[in-house]
Amino acid sequence: MDLKLVHTRAELAAAREKLGRLALVPTMGALHEGHRSLIRIARERADHVAVSIFVNPLQFGPNEDFARYPRTLDADVEVCAAEGVALVFAPSAEEMYAADRSVTVSAGPMGDVHEGAFRPGHFDGVLTVVLKLFNLVRPDVAVFGQKDAQQLAMIRRMVADLDVPVEIVGAPTVREPDGLAMSSRNRYLSAEDRAVALALSRALHEGAKHARPAEILTAARAVLDAAGPALSVDYLILVDPETFTEVSDDHRGEAVLAVAARVGGTRLIDNVPLSLG
Ligand code: AMP
Repeated sequence: MDLKLVHTRAELAAAREKLGRLALVPTMGALHEGHRSLIRIARERADHVAVSIFVNPLQFGPNEDFARYPRTLDADVEVCAAEGVALVFAPSAEEMYAADRSVTVSAGPMGDVHEGAFRPGHFDGVLTVVLKLFNLVRPDVAVFGQKDAQQLAMIRRMVADLDVPVEIVGAPTVREPDGLAMSSRNRYLSAEDRAVALALSRALHEGAKHARPAEILTAARAVLDAAGPALSVDYLILVDPETFTEVSDDHRGEAVLAVAARVGGTRLIDNVPLSLG
């Protein structure tokens, strides 16, 4: 089946009608292997896959990288075609948001901590666009990366709290051979920045060798500190994967070790799921 590229709600509605059980992969484009892995997981879950490509202005702060975020629609559509995607929805900001819009989704307290504390309003913007995409595309399943672990937790929370009839699937983080988590923002990194950025995945890897929360955090922190002043750490946390509250030192069971840091002008995040026994 050939890929259909649509830009408007009307085109989307007409194309969606012809598809049966549908899995949606929401993205901001500049597609890489991480996105491809989500598409492959989506294909296993449904008859057809839809990919949305939209750099959502609502989830960027005033001093963030909205204007320079990479926009590579032609290459992205080729990637989608090669991965057997049936439908690509790439709306303009005007198509998505009415000029007089006023209602948004509130992420609640989980939206104010960690990633949300450094990016005020970010999760309100994410949840608002994801709910709109769900209402427009009407997928049966939607696939999100574990790479954005707090986002995944927030989307699960929204779907549960607002009774959204979409099954949420989490997908593992895809990394470069040297460990760096793939990201559309990696293309901002100079060679020197990239070497410094490796401290994030290395820190998670060192932390994961330990069993107790305090030891995990100490080992990970040591790697971040060794990277020197070129790495500016926003947070290093060990949290419950569902609530994103920090775990106590006697915690047993699932946890997420997550880090956010700035290298040069680029902000990077990474995390690993851990099972503490
Ligand atoms: P983005 O285009 O960055 O908004 O990401 C779109 C989706 O791809 C989100 O669900 C991300 O969590 C996911 N994603 C981004 N990078 C990766 C990666 N390296 N591995 C797996 N999923 C990813």
